Amino acid sequence: MTNLRFKVVEEAYKRKPLEVSVPVERPSEYFGKKVFNREKMFKYLPKDVYEKMIDVIDNGARLDRNVADAVAAGMKQWATENGVTHYTHWFQPLTEGTAEKHDSFIEHDGKGGMVEDFTGKLLVQQEPDASSFPSGGIRSTFEARGYSAWDPTSPVFIIDDTLCIPTVFISYSGEALDYKAPLLRALHAVNVAATEVCHFFDPSVKKVTSNLGWEQEYFLVDEGLFAARPDLLLTGRTLMGHDAAKNQQMDDHYFGTIPDRVQAFMKELEIRALELGIPCKTRHNEVAPNQFELAPIFEETNLAVDHNMLLMSVMKRVARKHGFRVLLHEKPFAGINGSGKHNNWSLSTDTGVLLHAPGKTVEQNLRFVVFIVETLMGVWRHNGLLKASIMSASNAHRLGANEAPPAIISSFLGKQVSELLDHIAQADNGGLVMMGKQGLKMDIPEIPELMIDNTDRNRTSPFAFTGNRFEFRAVGSEANCASAMITLNSAVAEALTDFKRRVDERMADYVQRPEYAENTGHTAKFHAILDVVREDIRACSPIRFDGNGYSDEWVAEAERRGLDVETSCPRIFERYLSPSSIRMFESMGVMSEKELVARNEVKWETYTKRIQIEARVLGDLSMNHIIPVATRYQSQLLANVEMMGRVFAAEKVDELSARNVKIIEEIARRTGEIERLVEELVNARKVANKIEDEHAKAIAYHDSVAPKMDLIRYEIDKLELIVDDACWPLPKYRELLF
Ligand code: ADP
Ligand code: MG
Repeated sequence: MTNLRFKVVEEAYKRKPLEVSVPVERPSEYFGKKVFNREKMFKYLPKDVYEKMIDVIDNGARLDRNVADAVAAGMKQWATENGVTHYTHWFQPLTEGTAEKHDSFIEHDGKGGMVEDFTGKLLVQQEPDASSFPSGGIRSTFEARGYSAWDPTSPVFIIDDTLCIPTVFISYSGEALDYKAPLLRALHAVNVAATEVCHFFDPSVKKVTSNLGWEQEYFLVDEGLFAARPDLLLTGRTLMGHDAAKNQQMDDHYFGTIPDRVQAFMKELEIRALELGIPCKTRHNEVAPNQFELAPIFEETNLAVDHNMLLMSVMKRVARKHGFRVLLHEKPFAGINGSGKHNNWSLSTDTGVLLHAPGKTVEQNLRFVVFIVETLMGVWRHNGLLKASIMSASNAHRLGANEAPPAIISSFLGKQVSELLDHIAQADNGGLVMMGKQGLKMDIPEIPELMIDNTDRNRTSPFAFTGNRFEFRAVGSEANCASAMITLNSAVAEALTDFKRRVDERMADYVQRPEYAENTGHTAKFHAILDVVREDIRACSPIRFDGNGYSDEWVAEAERRGLDVETSCPRIFERYLSPSSIRMFESMGVMSEKELVARNEVKWETYTKRIQIEARVLGDLSMNHIIPVATRYQSQLLANVEMMGRVFAAEKVDELSARNVKIIEEIARRTGEIERLVEELVNARKVANKIEDEHAKAIAYHDSVAPKMDLIRYEIDKLELIVDDACWPLPKYRELLF
């Protein structure tokens, strides 16, 4: 019997890199070729319509029906010139990934013929057959239907023959059924709150934008090997597999030379991404073998989220073309570094100021301190919720597993900023020093931007300050960044709103005492800001942690500090429903309690389903792949021992067959154990499946189903080491990874 595994391994090694046809134009020329961006709007829309659209995009102006019709006409013209025949509303349901329903432009012309039509009505709103998307009961309870509505702030784009229109997906009673709707609300909230705080420093600021630069990690696996692993195929990760003798100990992969086939894949991926307006910048190998990273230049958060979703789907298509499968799962291989999606995040103003970057003057640095501290306040108050925002059945394998970010949210600031904050908090006058007769002088030292970026970096911190931004590193590789961005922006919006209110109150106090300000030579506003900042530096100090996030001491220490140290995924989701979370989301106008409750149902249900599928696949593989193969090998050994008996004397057989007998026994023991555990696994699932409540069911899956899978895996991985390599049916780690 030939082993399929050897065949696919051989084919994988023989596969040649694909020839990539590189466009004749420069990347800067084909960048955004497939996007209806401002340049194309200018070309395809009448001048007044173009101006109206810009006002809609930049300032959130209302979109009139006649403008929508004119925009649709321009879009259709551009699209048909590019061979487009269909259009779709593209949206982000609560399952990870995107959804679309394609319609052709074809319509009856009323005279028995057909015309290609695309009106403002079709552009603006659609009713996808939404019943199959998770809604946590919102639609069934409140309103039967959901609809998708155009998001004009993210430009439409072309994939193949289809015009894709980014949309929000909401129920008829207005509840969000997707990620984009609450994201847009959160971005609005942080814009309003941050703009008001900016007015303390510069009244001319009109708008604050949230920026996101994601770094996407992923694995590539040959498609033949992938297909020979039912676990990868069905669950996105390997449910079994012993460590390769060589894995990442050598660290020779990081930034290593990129193999030819991968190089060809990356080249084509970059071309496709640039055509779609995704500003790809860096590509390199990651820590683990066959692990890679792609990062674009940061963009406005809503657009960056769409671009990440788009990139993940383009990646999958291009990979298939090159004979690969992309693994976006956070932990496809046990014992090997997992994949994340670092979310680099900052706020900036329409006046060109990066609010998370230090400035040159004392005033600018005070503003910098305010934005750093209020970000920390948001992260501190909602650390458990932020963890919930990045948690999933798959990311749970990565967090806290002794590799980038532990399952506790804390923030690393670096020595300089840390000292600066301590200095301000401790100084008697809150960062003011006596300057003889001139009164008080603000004592905020200069912080050279480059220094912070290049000196200290703490790789174990889940939320690290990196010079002019925070890097939220706990986000999962497979996740929609929107989830983390909704929570982070809302939490910071709340902190800034609160900050503004307290500064206003304090200012009113100081205005009552004009002599105080006169004596110090500073305004009431200045003193008020400093007072409140000092209060907040002290309040949020538990969130600051510069030590080793992987250590056990940190867990104990974090607990003492009152940080959230829960590790169970379904319990972490409970944070969405804590009073402080509901209050925060409601007061910022991001999500109502009703929406939060419904969305959590989806989270728990999704968690359960994923573990359920994994448990089924593992059970099946154990019973019909692993046990039969191990038993067959055991029979061969038994036959050998028996033959020995025919040739040699009994004492000689004992001596000669000692090793085989040991293996025969071990196989018997381990297969027996697997069988017993699989039965337990099935029973645990049956018990859990009877539970009606999604929350309780997810907890049952976490507490009683998932741990059994680890035990089964342990036995299988031991068998992999003793069963003849020639019979082992599933491609091994060394074959998948090298
Ligand atoms: P790293 O050293 O972590 O690999 P990179 O230089 O590759 O960092 O940048 C990672 C991402 O951070 C990129 O997408 C980059 O555009 C983005 N980025 C840089 N500055 C900012 C900022 N101020 N706000 C948001 N994202 C930023
Ligand atoms: Mg990074």
